Parts: sequence; C-alpha cells; structure tokens
Amino acid sequence: MTRRTSRQLRIGDVAVGGHAPVAVQSMTKTDTRDVHATIHQIKELEDCGCEIVRLAVPDREATESLATIKKSVPLPIIADIHFDYRLALGALKAGVDGLRLNPGNIGDKEQIARVVAAAKEREVPIRIGVNAGSLPAHFQPRIPLAKRMVNMALEQIRLMESLDFDLIKVSLKAFDVPTTIQAYQTISKKMPYPLHLGVTEAGLPHTGALRSAIGIGILLYQGIGDTIRVSLTAHPCEEVFVAYEILKSLGLRERGPTLVSCPSCGRAEVDILALAEAVNKRLAKISKPIKVAVMGCVVNGPGEARDADVGIAGGKGKGAIFRKGKVVDTVSEDKFLAAIMAEVNSLTKKGTE
Ligand code: SF4
Repeated sequence: MTRRTSRQLRIGDVAVGGHAPVAVQSMTKTDTRDVHATIHQIKELEDCGCEIVRLAVPDREATESLATIKKSVPLPIIADIHFDYRLALGALKAGVDGLRLNPGNIGDKEQIARVVAAAKEREVPIRIGVNAGSLPAHFQPRIPLAKRMVNMALEQIRLMESLDFDLIKVSLKAFDVPTTIQAYQTISKKMPYPLHLGVTEAGLPHTGALRSAIGIGILLYQGIGDTIRVSLTAHPCEEVFVAYEILKSLGLRERGPTLVSCPSCGRAEVDILALAEAVNKRLAKISKPIKVAVMGCVVNGPGEARDADVGIAGGKGKGAIFRKGKVVDTVSEDKFLAAIMAEVNSLTKKGTE
C-alpha cells in the first residue's frame, strides 16, 4: 500500500500528513461550557488512545471555556466552528491547536480572511470541513454531490491560498459511503494538503462501525487519509476503539491487543464463545500490542495459535496453550482462561511483544 504523501502540518505536538502515522481523532460529547465534564471526557479519551480531540464551540461562553480546558489537558484541541466566524477568533485567542471551519455555513470572504489572518499569526492549522448535509442548496445544484463537495473545498482552498495561508487540512464527509469515497478520491489528486477521513452520522455502534470501516478502510487502503474520526452515536472512546481496529486491520497502526477467535462450529469441543468473551474482557485492560488466538479445535486451531503471541487450540475437554509459536502447556477446560492470561501477563510485563 503506497500512501499519498501530503504536506505535513502539526496539530499541537501531533504531526499530520507527510510520513506521519495516521492519527486518531474523536470529539467530546459534553457541553463545552461545562468545563469540568469536558476535561473529564478529554482525559478519558487520552486514556483510550485518542490523539487529537475536537470540541463543539456553539457560542461565546464556549470559547471562554476553551482557555481553561486547553490549560488542563495534554491532548491537542480543535475548535469546531459553524455559522459565526467570531467564535473562530475567540477559539484562537483561547489557544486552540486547530480550527475546523464549515464552508457550507461560513462563506463570507471578508470573515474568512479575518480568521485566516489570526490563524496565520498563531500558526494554527484550519480544516476545511465540508459536510454533505450542510452544503448550501444554491451551490452548483445540478452536479453530483461528491463533485459539489470537492468544488466547495477547492473554492475555500483557493481563497486561503490567495491569503498566503497553507496550514490547511480538508475533509469531505457524507453519510453515503460511495459518495464519501468518490469525494476523497477526487480531491486527493487535486491538492497537496492532508485529509481527515470520516463517514458522517454513521449511526449506532454496530452499523456505524461497519459503515466507517468500509468508507475509511477503502480510502486508507488506497493510501488516502492522514487523520481519521469514526462518528458513532456512543461514548467517544468507542469511536477511538473502532478507529484503531480499522488501522490495525490494515497494518497501519498498532495499539492494544488483537484477539483472533474462531467463530466456533459443530466441531468445537470447548465453549469458544464464552472463552473468547472472557479473554476479550480481560485484554481490554492491556494497552500493549499483543496477538491472542482463541481457537475451538484442531482444524485451524494449532496454525492460528502458533502464529499468535499467545494462543489456545481446544481439544476434547483440554487445550494446548501456545506462546510465541510453541506449545508450553496442556490444560483442562476449567483452567483455559487462567492459563491464557498468565502467558499474556508475563509477555506484556516483559515488554517482549
Ligand atoms: S477452529 Fe474448529 S471449532 Fe473453530 S470454527 Fe474452525 S473448525 Fe470450527
């Protein structure tokens, strides 16, 4: 997989684009004016691996909260601005690390010029965040949606470039996955700036994770994308979890354990579903990358278990425990969980993964 090399910029201390790893972004779901709750949620996001966090800035009071929040959290903060350019100026003053402007609802050239001048002075990047749902109806109504989104972004890019500003990041999000993919593919060939990927309003965790995995995954596989956000109707740490699963599936990032578990079938001689769930629950507390295989029988079991850092291949009431490709024990079914976790803990504590 060859990645598109975009022009690198920094959001706080996180490098975005160029050869930097694809960064994981999420958004707080608290009221930004509630400083305490927002700081708490950003700390939760930091603990679950989020690298950049975006905050909604609906009014002036929220811009005032940003200054306190910014001083209290280590994660880079992006202010999400719609409708009112003065909120962008307030957010910059509060010290945010990035801005997201929606060109669909902030279009006045004079206003954008004022924001760009303030961002330039502070060297703060701006994301041109086009969203299919907020494209003005009068903007090129006769052409396909993906093209309209691209054209809107290009128009804003040209405006910012004419103001001698190039700390630009772009996103083109739609609910429709093919539209999202087409829009990103098209713009990736037309400008050099980093792309933030997302499928917007993706839905509840099950369907949302799938829509995002398909949309974001296809683009990443084509080498497109520098930051990603999985939008889910759920706690933001769920978004971060899914984002890493997408990146891990494509071999782009490593974080935390990877559980390989067989689906179980009529051949299984042990209760794989219960065992996989119990192992998964315990692995959730581990942040180091480790591959663990839980397999039900001798068909694929030994192969997968051998390939993982720690594995089990079930047999008749017994299972072979593998560590780094070698059988280290054979235990009865009541000891499966303890035996697997003993190996996992010893490997993660040693840091040998
Ligand atoms: S590993 Fe065995 S039990 Fe699991 S799905 Fe394959 S054949 Fe079935």
